[in-house]
Amino acid sequence: MTRAVLIAGVLFATCGNSPAFAWGCQGHRTVAILAERIVDAKTRQAVRDVLVASPIDPALERFCFPKDPDPIVDAATWADDVRGVMHETAEWHFIDYPLTIDARQAGFTKFCPGGNCVIDAIVTQFKKLRASSDKTEKANALRFLIHFVGDVHQPLHSVTNGDRGGNCVPITYFGETPTTKNHGGSFSPNLHHIWDTETIVRFMTAQKLKTNAALAQRIIDDGLVPTGVKAATPTIARVRGWAEASNAAAKTIGYGKLLPLIADEPILTQPLLSCTGNTKIGDRMMQLHESLDAPYEAETMPVIEKQLALAGQRLAAVLKAAFAN
Ligand SMILES: [Zn+2]
Repeated sequence: MTRAVLIAGVLFATCGNSPAFAWGCQGHRTVAILAERIVDAKTRQAVRDVLVASPIDPALERFCFPKDPDPIVDAATWADDVRGVMHETAEWHFIDYPLTIDARQAGFTKFCPGGNCVIDAIVTQFKKLRASSDKTEKANALRFLIHFVGDVHQPLHSVTNGDRGGNCVPITYFGETPTTKNHGGSFSPNLHHIWDTETIVRFMTAQKLKTNAALAQRIIDDGLVPTGVKAATPTIARVRGWAEASNAAAKTIGYGKLLPLIADEPILTQPLLSCTGNTKIGDRMMQLHESLDAPYEAETMPVIEKQLALAGQRLAAVLKAAFAN
């Protein structure tokens, strides 16, 4: 667990060791809170009814604690918790567009092998939620949907540079030097996790936003979300657009504002399972001595805030479509 998370842990819900899980507890929960605020009362109740009809297994180990009493907010991080037991879902949280290519030109299917990426996952789980009459299948599809609409808006989940979406890029973060965290060769702090969690936690601490609801309120007060949305079915074309915009932000800001800049890695033909792969990418990136602090976050936090807002409003539109008659 990073120092930033430890500091913040006394203030609000924190997160376990989930290195590649996209937005951390704060980000996912904030997206859910925003969506809940935006949808109409009838949709909100329909979402709750489906979740309550088949509650999360109390034996499942949860990374975010304390548990949120609101079933919609609590549902937002379930997909990360089940990765350890539903191994087939591991690839559903991201799409690995190589940093070197233009995602808008490239098509996505070759980066979504077997339909196992966040774009297909959102479309598939939406259809399952609509079609299923099994209460557990329906509740789980809804939980996946709430989570993945968040994930696709985390820019580092729509890009990779042969580095597991920045998970293999060690960063000295506000003076905290990176160390190897496990035998898989991942580092902490690293670029991906800073986007997931540390930047949001630092922002909340600095702004005295003690809860995720307070962060959601800040995003609303900043005028970033509409008061209502129209229903919108998540088609492949629509979700691709979301992923491509995330990809653009990852390129121009996520990687583009790093000092020093990181050279383009060759496109890998096989998924990278560890930072020891791709000719010890983690060790090679360590030699760059990447360091970031306030100037970088002055660029990234507005992007993160905007992406959380978009995720919240798009999730609201998707939920309205899911529960339309
Ligand atoms: Zn995720």
